[in-house]
Amino acid sequence: MESNPQPEGAKETWPVNLLRQMLFCPRIPWFREVLGLAAPSQPWMRQGERFQEVMEQRLERRVLARFGLDDAAWHKRPFLRSPALGLHGIADLALVGTDRVAVVEIKLGSGGVRRGERLQLAAYGLMAEAHFALPCREVFLLFGERGFERITLGDALRKEVRAAAGRLCAIMAAQRVPDSPATAAQCTQCEHLNACNDRF
Ligand code: SF4
Repeated sequence: MESNPQPEGAKETWPVNLLRQMLFCPRIPWFREVLGLAAPSQPWMRQGERFQEVMEQRLERRVLARFGLDDAAWHKRPFLRSPALGLHGIADLALVGTDRVAVVEIKLGSGGVRRGERLQLAAYGLMAEAHFALPCREVFLLFGERGFERITLGDALRKEVRAAAGRLCAIMAAQRVPDSPATAAQCTQCEHLNACNDRF
């Protein structure tokens, strides 16, 4: 399996959710991990966590039979880590069959997958492959007991994950605040605006 070289000085692995933050603005993961600036907890985040807890409790085999892995072993909230990608994280659910593994993430909302969510989920898939030593062909985003999105873990998406993970590692290894293409509209909704002296 192809791997990204670890930039010199980079921590070995970084939280996978930083991929999503990096897509919004490359400064955000740098502020949070290198400077230790914490993001305030938002009400919608707590709502999402609660939804996740409820869904995890309600998950049943008949619900997951739709994924074609109804005989798979369940691994709830597995810790996954890939030094090759420079990422780690806790997935919601890994379904481990005899010849493949799939990852399921639970999301508040009725549907639609953003690029950052897609990348993060695909990264979980790549980490699950290494962790369980089985191929991962698909990953799933579960919106509720009925709605879900199936994402094929093909070559193009794998390449995109590796490129994004490599970029994240390079950002985190840098000794200076990264350049940012963020627009004024993005900055006005960002909790780190006070830390950006070159904005407004
Ligand atoms: S204020 Fe703008 S440039 Fe600064 S971290 Fe937020 S989005 Fe990025």
